[in-house]
Amino acid sequence: MKLAELLDDKRAVLLDIEGTLVTCLEEPELFPDAAELLAYLRRTNKKFLLATNTARMSRAQIAAALRRAGLEVSPREIVTPMTVALELIRGRPKKVFLIGEAGHVIEAAECEWVELVYDESAEIVMLGACRDLTYQQLNFAFRLLLKGAKLIVVGGDLYARGCRYGECGVFLMEGAIARALEEAAGVRGVRTGKPSVEFFRTALSLLGVSAKDALMIGDSERTDLRAAEHGIDVVLVRRDGRAPTEVPKGARVFLARSLKLNERLIELTVG
Ligand SMILES: [Mg+2]
Repeated sequence: MKLAELLDDKRAVLLDIEGTLVTCLEEPELFPDAAELLAYLRRTNKKFLLATNTARMSRAQIAAALRRAGLEVSPREIVTPMTVALELIRGRPKKVFLIGEAGHVIEAAECEWVELVYDESAEIVMLGACRDLTYQQLNFAFRLLLKGAKLIVVGGDLYARGCRYGECGVFLMEGAIARALEEAAGVRGVRTGKPSVEFFRTALSLLGVSAKDALMIGDSERTDLRAAEHGIDVVLVRRDGRAPTEVPKGARVFLARSLKLNERLIELTVG
C-alpha cells in the first residue's frame, strides 16, 4: 500500500514534528518531503494536528520555527503536552504552580482557567521541562505535593535533544525531574505527552474523530509507535529503514522510509 492510499482511508492525521517534518525545533531543518505531505493534507481537506512532545516552546513559537524552516502552519494546528495539560483541567479557575520555560508560561498565561501562583495556595503543580530549574522551585513543588497538590507532568520525556545557551546536545527533561519528585513525595503525576492515553485522547477529541479514523505519522518507536496501543494506526517513518524492535498490539503499524505520497508502506506484524 502507498502512503496516499492509507491517507485516503483516514479522516484525520497526527503528525509528529521533530525527526519527522524537521530535524529539531530549536535548530530546525526541513525534510524535503514534509511540505508535500502537508500540502496534500490541506488539498484533500484532511483534519490534522502536528503532535509534538516539545512544550518548552509555545505553539506560536513552534509555528514560527517551522515557518523559518519553510513550513506554514498555524499555532492552532499544533498540539503539545501543554495543550493537553491545560485541556485536562479545563473548567473552573485553577491555581497552578508552574515550573517551565517560556513556552509553558506563555500558554498558561493565555489560558482563561489558569491562575499562575507562586505560593501555598497552589492546587496543581505543573512540571514542564526547565533548563533553568532551581533547588528552590523543586523543593517548593515537593512541599506542595506533600500538602496534597496534584502533579501534572507536562510531557514525560526523560531527556531530549535541544539547543540552549549556544550549546546543542541532550538535556534532562521533565520526566527525569518528575521521578525525583514522585519518589520523594510518594505521589504519581499524570503525564500529558506521547505515548500517554491523555495525549492521544485529547488530540483525537480536538480533531473530533475516533481512533480508527485517525493515523499517527512519526519517527519515534518509544512515543509515536505506541499510538497503536490506543487503537490508532501508525506509520513509523524511518529514513534509514530501521525496523522497530517491538510492534505494539491494538492497531496496524506500517514502516516507511519517507513521507512521499507514493512511498510503499511495509505492514509490520506483532511478534
Ligand atoms: Mg519525533
